[in-house]
Amino acid sequence: EDIQQQFSEGIAARSRRRAEFAALRDKPAETRDGVRIALNINAGLLIDLQALQEYDADGVGLYRTEIPFMVRSDFPDVEAQIALYRRVMDQCGDKPAIFRTLDIGGDKALPYWRQGGEENPAMGWRAIRIGLDRPAILRSQLRALVGAAADRQLSIMFPMIAEVAEFDAARRVLELEIARAKARGRPIPSEIRIGVMLEVPALIFQLPALLDRVDFVSVGSNDFFQFLFASDRGNPRLAERYDVLSPAALRCLDQVVRACGAADVPVSVCGEMAGRPLEAMALLGVGFRRISMPPTALGEIKSMVRSLDLGAAQTYVRTLLDLPDHSVRAKLRTFALDHGVSI
Ligand code: PEP
Ligand code: MG
Repeated sequence: EDIQQQFSEGIAARSRRRAEFAALRDKPAETRDGVRIALNINAGLLIDLQALQEYDADGVGLYRTEIPFMVRSDFPDVEAQIALYRRVMDQCGDKPAIFRTLDIGGDKALPYWRQGGEENPAMGWRAIRIGLDRPAILRSQLRALVGAAADRQLSIMFPMIAEVAEFDAARRVLELEIARAKARGRPIPSEIRIGVMLEVPALIFQLPALLDRVDFVSVGSNDFFQFLFASDRGNPRLAERYDVLSPAALRCLDQVVRACGAADVPVSVCGEMAGRPLEAMALLGVGFRRISMPPTALGEIKSMVRSLDLGAAQTYVRTLLDLPDHSVRAKLRTFALDHGVSI
C-alpha cells in the first residue's frame, strides 16, 4: 500500500508539472535578461515528433536515424528510407530537423547486422567508421535523404567523426549522391547544411580546419565525456566517478563555444545533459544558445530558461572554470537556489 501510494503521488505530481509546463507552451524560451535560447528535441520515432507542436519546440536538433532501423527485421532499402524521412520532414513542417547518419555499432545493435565481438564496442567499428568502410550503406542512406528532401532544406550531420579527413570523406559521399540525383534530373534539396557531431575529443585539436568546412557543430556530450574521462557511459560503477559539471568538462565546452563563435559556426549540445535543468543552466553559462534534448525534458528546461538571469550565470560559471574541484555541481545548485532559477 505504501508503495502504491508513493507511485500514485509521483504520478499526480508529474501530471501537475506537465500541466504547468503546458501553460508555458506559448511563452518564448527567453531568459530573464531577454536572451532567446533555441530549444530543440532529440527524436528517433515518429511519436517523438508530437512534442514539436505540443511544446512548440524550435526544431529537431538530433534525429537518430538508426532507431527506425533498429525496430525492423531487415535493412530498409532506399525507397523505404525515402518514405520514412519524408514522413519525418512532413511532420516537422517548417521546423528544421537535423538528420544524423546511421550510428550503429557500440550500444546500438541491429538484429540483422552481425557486429562480431569487440573488446571496446563504444570505441570500435561503429557510426561513420562503418559508413566509410561500407560506403554502400552510407550512400543508400544519403541517397534517401537527398531524395526525401526534394526542394526542401536538408540538414545532415555525421556521428563519431575523429578527424577532418573523415568528415571530408563523408561529405564526398554526400556530394556523389547530389551529383547522381542531378544527373538523373531528380529534384534536389533547396539547401543542404552539413554538420558534425563533436563526440571524439581529438576533434578539438582540429577545430580551425573543421570549422572552415562545416555549417554547424553539435556536441554529443554522452559520447564526448565518456571519451574525455575514459569512463564507460553505461557502467553504473562509474556513474559518480566523473561529473560533466566539473571544471575540466566545462572548460572544454567553453573552448568549443569560443572557437565556434569566432568562426561564426552555430554550435549546440544534443547529449542527455542538455535535458537536465542544472546541466542546461551550466551549458548556457558557458555560452551555448541552442540545445537539444529528449522531448520529455522540454517543459522543465523552458521553465529553467525563463527563470534565469543569463548574465549573472555567465559571470558565475566563469569563476568555476579554473577550480581544482572534482565537481562544481553543488556550487551551481547553490547559485540556482540563491537566484531563483527553476531547477
Ligand atoms: C551523444 O553521444 O551525446 C549523442 C547524442 O549520441 P548518442 O547518445 O545517440 O550516442
Ligand atoms: Mg553519440
